[in-house]
Amino acid sequence: MKNIMFIAPPAAGKGTQAELVVEKYNIPHISTGDILRDISKEDSEIGHYIFETLSSGKLVKDEITYQLIEERLRNDDCKNGFIIDGFPRTLTQAIEYDKILEKLGYEIGNVIYINMNEKTLEKRITGRRVCEDCKTIYNINDSNSSPQIESICDKCGGKLYQRNDDNLVSFQTRYKMYREKTEPILEHYKNKKVLYEVNGEETVENVFKQIDEIISKNNGDD
Ligand code: AMP
Repeated sequence: MKNIMFIAPPAAGKGTQAELVVEKYNIPHISTGDILRDISKEDSEIGHYIFETLSSGKLVKDEITYQLIEERLRNDDCKNGFIIDGFPRTLTQAIEYDKILEKLGYEIGNVIYINMNEKTLEKRITGRRVCEDCKTIYNINDSNSSPQIESICDKCGGKLYQRNDDNLVSFQTRYKMYREKTEPILEHYKNKKVLYEVNGEETVENVFKQIDEIISKNNGDD
């Protein structure tokens, strides 16, 4: 199947939608944010650097992300398609990503842009909770996606936590960064004719429906 890339502002539901794609299509989910959050727990120089950078809402150095992505894509489980989220995040990264893909013999696939307005994102960011173990995402401000027992994951019983960067101050930095650095990527992929837009303001199910239609259409499943 074709590879999938998600581009969306912070808290637009990339992670949640990626998990739904994984469930249905059984392909690996590669999230630079998740990989970096794991490294940020390490008591090492790089662990501390990443922890500080993530908390501030700024971007981690390009060279670190390139190395992590290339290493991850070399894994055998990526051979039948993968979903990438959180990378590339700047035009420079997109150009480097094209080179990494070419080197590994992979195609860009379908780039899916989840569009959402700033006010909705702001409301979502403070309610987001993530399972420490299975990484399932909940939102305590939304009855459709809140956990049954507060602080406990419905799926695996793991503890839920609030991301360090899920506060309004970090959000403003991340959103500004998104508008300035990430949005120009859309034009890059539009020119390559691989860009598809979905409306992220709808329910989780309806956003997934739009995404699934794009995936099945482009894989000739309908
Ligand atoms: P996310 O989980 O995608 O919201 O990413 C969380 C944080 O990880 C971002 O705010 C950045 O600090 C860092 N990060 C994730 N992906 C990248 C990337 N491609 N380049 C640089 N920093 C990144």
